Amino acid sequence: MSLDFSGWQDLAKNLKIETRAFINGQYTEAQTKAVFPCINPSNEEVIAQITLCDEAEVDAAVKAARAAFDSGVWSDLAPRKRAEILKNFASLIRAHAEELTILETLDVGKPVSDCLPVDIMGSAYCVEWFAEAIDKIGGEVAPLDPKLFGTVTREAIGVVAAVVPWNFPMLMSSWKYAPALAAGNAVILKPSEKSPLSAIRLAAIAKEAGIPDGIFQVLPGAGQVGKLLASHHDIDCVAFTGSTAVGKLIAEYAAKSNLKRVWLELGGKSPHIIFADCPDIVQAAKTAAAAIFYNMGEMCSAGSRVLVQKDIKDVFLAEFKKQAAVYIPSNPIDPNSNMGPIVDHVQYEKILGYIEKGKAEGATLICGGHSKKVDGKGYFIEPTAFSDVNQNHTIAQEEIFGPVLSIIEFDTEDEAIAIANNSEYGLAAGLWTSNLSTAHKVSRKLRAGTVWVNCYDEGGDMNLPFGGFKQSGNGRDKSLHALEKYTELKATLIKL
Ligand code: NAD
Repeated sequence: MSLDFSGWQDLAKNLKIETRAFINGQYTEAQTKAVFPCINPSNEEVIAQITLCDEAEVDAAVKAARAAFDSGVWSDLAPRKRAEILKNFASLIRAHAEELTILETLDVGKPVSDCLPVDIMGSAYCVEWFAEAIDKIGGEVAPLDPKLFGTVTREAIGVVAAVVPWNFPMLMSSWKYAPALAAGNAVILKPSEKSPLSAIRLAAIAKEAGIPDGIFQVLPGAGQVGKLLASHHDIDCVAFTGSTAVGKLIAEYAAKSNLKRVWLELGGKSPHIIFADCPDIVQAAKTAAAAIFYNMGEMCSAGSRVLVQKDIKDVFLAEFKKQAAVYIPSNPIDPNSNMGPIVDHVQYEKILGYIEKGKAEGATLICGGHSKKVDGKGYFIEPTAFSDVNQNHTIAQEEIFGPVLSIIEFDTEDEAIAIANNSEYGLAAGLWTSNLSTAHKVSRKLRAGTVWVNCYDEGGDMNLPFGGFKQSGNGRDKSLHALEKYTELKATLIKL
């Protein structure tokens, strides 16, 4: 970590914040001049007034993206040349890492010590990884009748809209724009209205790196911008990360407009199973706490349901309480902070509502359960856990997207699998066992896009795909599989 507390505070004080949309290589206000406030959740103060895009800005960006894509200025570059520019982009993200970190922390309340290595450096790594991949993969020659010659190739899809959430603004965006740009597309990025700052700044960095005008644009605004993009007739693909409810709307908008390709990365209610033969109960409890309290629980993959086998329940709960106490809501600009505020007032109230519901439905509160102020301000919530949760309780079924854990007891392996899969979601799952057969058997039965065994949330490596089964979405971010989302497959036949 490069800066101390006062260093980060100075950086925050002296920041020059860009607030406008980035269309066709220029920062620009909305035609209507409309703006919306960006609020710091740590102190509830307005940081800046941000351009509120609408139809005029969406149309202008789509027009610029289409023209840039069709001109071939990006899609027709030799892959090696595109890779060079993207690697430059990754280097510039690293060069601006502290500035991007403080923007993100002020905007969403992420602790700087998590944000810098995970969100900012993780984004640079993602851009670099896809840059390095694109000149290494080719097409196929199909085995045909010798009078024919047939190739199977992948081509850029065209104009891609990326509509993203606020919980990892930089990182989730990079998982979309990096493979899309690498494949040769033009990208229009729509950050969440709760977290517009880093995306707006990123646009100038992309331009400085050499990405041509119209190829990477940023439209801040409300859900309306996402709706306009997903409904637009001249957009070829919409890649969405966000809630399942909005994901369903995105699919509907696409179906009702031009049947653009739709890729959805949605919510989760991931089970984290602790079997009685868990190899290390202290480590399991520590990991279970991190799985729900890291990033204030605002994680799609949060291990928000711990399933613990009856025989070890008491010892697990005792250890878990110790590990939960490690998370202390505090000023996220302090490098010692491991827990910042909740992103905004709406999400804060929603989480507190779920805590009340947990109590009302009869679960036992074992830690936390209250809101908190830091220096008299902010949307902070204590790390909270309930035991004696029954799988039909609201807090065991609905995604809370906050630091609230539901602990459910089970008896047998089959019961654990049934409870784990009793969810409309299927994003991730974890399990702890010393038995290799249990590990394999249970992993296979879990309906989830990622299964962690004797760990949770490990593997930031870009070569692992990430995404969900069931209503957690379709398609995968990360890995070479992500490139498939941003390309069309073409068969070309030549009669010899
Ligand atoms: P959200 O669905 O409210 O918003 C996501 C984006 O969609 C934002 O940019 C928002 O402005 C836009 N939007 C809102 N209404 C829209 C509409 N009607 N039409 C088009 N766009 C619209 O989600 P959120 O609160 O920003 O993020 C939290 C959700 O994201 C959680 O459910 C979480 O699990 C999910 N998430 C999933 C993953 C994953 O990889 N699966 C990763 C991170 C977050």
